[in-house]
Formats: sequence, C-alpha cells, structure tokens
Amino acid sequence: MPFVSSRTIVASLALLALTAVTLPAQAQEGDMPASAAWAALQQGDNTKAASIFREELDRSPRNAWLHFGAGYAALRLGRSDAAISSLKRAVEYNPRFLQALVLLSQAAYQSADLDLALRTMEKAAALAPGNPDIARQLAEWRVESELHERFEERAGVRFKVLFEGPAEKAISDRVAAVLESAYWTIGKTLNTYPGETLTVILYSNQQFQDITRAPAWAGGGYDGRIRLPVGGALRSPKSLDRVVTHELVHAIVRTAAPTGAPTWVNEGLASYLESSDHTWATRALRASSSRIPLSALADGFDRFDGDTALIAYAESLVAGRLLCERLGPHVGTFLQMLGSGHTVDQALSTLNVQPETFYGEWRRRIGVQ
Ligand SMILES: [Zn+2]
Repeated sequence: MPFVSSRTIVASLALLALTAVTLPAQAQEGDMPASAAWAALQQGDNTKAASIFREELDRSPRNAWLHFGAGYAALRLGRSDAAISSLKRAVEYNPRFLQALVLLSQAAYQSADLDLALRTMEKAAALAPGNPDIARQLAEWRVESELHERFEERAGVRFKVLFEGPAEKAISDRVAAVLESAYWTIGKTLNTYPGETLTVILYSNQQFQDITRAPAWAGGGYDGRIRLPVGGALRSPKSLDRVVTHELVHAIVRTAAPTGAPTWVNEGLASYLESSDHTWATRALRASSSRIPLSALADGFDRFDGDTALIAYAESLVAGRLLCERLGPHVGTFLQMLGSGHTVDQALSTLNVQPETFYGEWRRRIGVQ
C-alpha cells in the first residue's frame, strides 16, 4: 500500500517565529512592568512568567503590556484559549498595540478561528501598512477564507467537515463516520477526549498544496484543524480511513500535550494507531540500511525528502508502538507530562520505564545495535 502517513503542518510554536513578534525591547532594558516575567520568558520559563504576569495583573488589571505578556506565556504553554482572551484584552486596552494584534491573529489561526485571525491581522495591516510579513500573511489567509466560503459544511457536535461540492459529499460522510468511531478508540488508547469541535477540511489535491505548501509526500495535515487532500479518495477508501485516523491522533495528542511532544512521539503514535496494518514500516526498514537517530526526529520531518521521510515515519512507528506497549494505559499521562514541561526521559522514568532500556529496545527493533 502507498505511503500515506503525513505530518503536523505547524509545530505549535513555530508560529511565533513567523513574523515580527519579538519580546519588546523595553523588556530587555528592565523598564517594563513585570521585568522579571519578561526575563523568565526569555529564559524559556513560561510557567514562572505566567505566574508573575498574573500577580502583576491583580495590581494593574488594565495594563495592556501585562495582558500581552500573559497571552504570550499562555501561548508558549499551549493554552490557546487563555492566550486569546489575554491578547484580546491587551488590544482592548491599547487598540494600536501591533505586537498584540499580530500574536492574537496567530493564536486565533492556530485555534482554527480564521475569521478572528483575519479581522485582527487586517487591523495590524492598517497600523503597519509597509510590513511585508503582515501583508503576506494577510494575503494567504484571504485566499484560504475565500476558498472556504465556497465550501459546504457538515456540522456535527465533535466534528465539522467542510467540503467543496456534491462530488465530495460521499467522502465527507465517510470521513465523518471514521472520525466518530476513531474518536472513541483513539481517545481510549490515549485516555484523552477533545472537548472542542474539531474542524476537518477536504480539499482537492491542488487546493491542499496551495493552502498548506506541504511536501509532496504529505497525505494530510493537522495545524489546529485537519486538512485532507481527497482527490480520488474513494478509489482507496482504506487509505482515506488511515489518513483521517492519523490526523485525528495528532489532534488528540495536541489536546493532551499542546506543546512538548517531540515529532517522533507525535508521528509515532499517529503512524502506529492509524491502522493495525504496519507492514509498510517493516518493509521500509528492510529495504533501506539508512537509519536516523531519535534525536534527529524531534523537530519536524518537513525537511526530509520522500525516502528519508519514509524511514523517519517507520522508525517513529516503532517508537510509538513501544510507547503503547510499555506504558499501556498511561500513554495519556505520559503525554500530559510532556505537555507540562517534562522531558521524555523524565516522563518515562516517572512511569517506571527505564529510558535507556526503552531506547535500547527501539534500536534493536529498527535493526541498529
Ligand atoms: Zn502525521
């Protein structure tokens, strides 16, 4: 069967690097309110930063910079809803606060609220008409929004499926049925049941490329909403089911660990749980002698060509399977620990899995001694 695994389009915090959002220069000079919190943010101690911002906001509840800082820290901690409400307040108290507008628009986009993202980025563009990053982002989101406006919507409680026309109606029915059933089986395995409605968008293969700019080998994507290229999908319905399930795993992993899960954990669980047929991975590892160390599988696979990606996914699948075997009912706890800042080794040890034994067994299974 063809290789259908895919990837997470946007690592949760890559978005912060996208535009001109940086910590305010004043923060570095120490004359901002809550300078200790800005320093903590710069050192990556987001929990400490969030707690100082909270205390300072008790004293100065209308300070836009403090709300911005709280939103920034929340976003880094993977708390999108809290980030959005803090950033909305920052903008409310200072409507000309460019950095807050840009960050709010990105947080909204990450939460699949394209309308809010677009409205907010339009305000940012009005304040900074010469900023090329803002102009480019706005143009991309407008294209996406105009495309989605033509789409029909199959609304459900847990899932909302967008598709273009009658030809895709049957596919959307199948996708909705697969999601509904996988929600419970995957949810049980990962002990995590997302409460929010998940958006799923069905694209033609060309639209998928245009919107996501995914590598050609990607069979789908998750970046706060599931995006699937479904041209000809019903010719191989089993492949469609796999991709749908795979992307749902990403959504569930993000619910448990909004940040902190290395790519091999995320892709490993998605590749292992997408189907019970794992022969493609065994074949891929048999057919090639090249291996990638786990440390090189932590930060996204987008840079890989198709052959390397295949090995990366196969190795990750082996690791995902091993996680499920060794952690049993505690995979969900493991993910939550990653989400709250623990390393993989700390989480494994806490759950009584010796990291060195785990890695040794993984190396043995992928054929490296
Ligand atoms: Zn994936």
